[in-house]
Amino acid sequence: MTDSSTDPVDRFLDAARDETAELPFRLTGVMFQYYVVCERELWFLSRDVEIDRDTPSIVRGSDVDDSAYSDKRRDVRVDGIIAIDVLDSGEILEVKPSSSMTEPARLQLLFYLWYLDRVTGVEKTGVLAHPTEKRRETIELTPETSAEVESAIRGIREVVTAESPPPAEEKPVCDSCAYHDFCWSC
Ligand code: SF4
Repeated sequence: MTDSSTDPVDRFLDAARDETAELPFRLTGVMFQYYVVCERELWFLSRDVEIDRDTPSIVRGSDVDDSAYSDKRRDVRVDGIIAIDVLDSGEILEVKPSSSMTEPARLQLLFYLWYLDRVTGVEKTGVLAHPTEKRRETIELTPETSAEVESAIRGIREVVTAESPPPAEEKPVCDSCAYHDFCWSC
């Protein structure tokens, strides 16, 4: 059983619920995407390692189709910690940036739903939009998906607090990753 005094999830929640407390570690929505795609890239992100922002990449917020639902959504920042798009219907929107990004975008959206529920007490449903495929998927927080988010928080914390990045492991996304030369040039 996890010790509640040292569990990163409990520590994060305690601090997020206390306006005067400092968060024990930085946690952003996009970190969940990186965590799924490449933990090494997550480590670089956490250290603000900037190489070439013009390089096409798989995980980039700027790659998202910003025009999707533009007339039906508004940007909302919550506690200065998460920035979400809220549809007129009250659902939380996340746009899937590419065909390979369904799972990363789903986990990011689940984190937003989890944060709203656990920290602010607001229950919401999410919409994962696939603009290029003209379809949408409903995402809900359940005991199972909550556990998925909490497991990811523990994993992210482990990656970002490590002194060095995880070793490079070649994968299809490497070709379009901003850190490609950093990882694979001799
Ligand atoms: S090049 Fe590949 S291993 Fe290196 S950070 Fe990018 S995705 Fe990860």
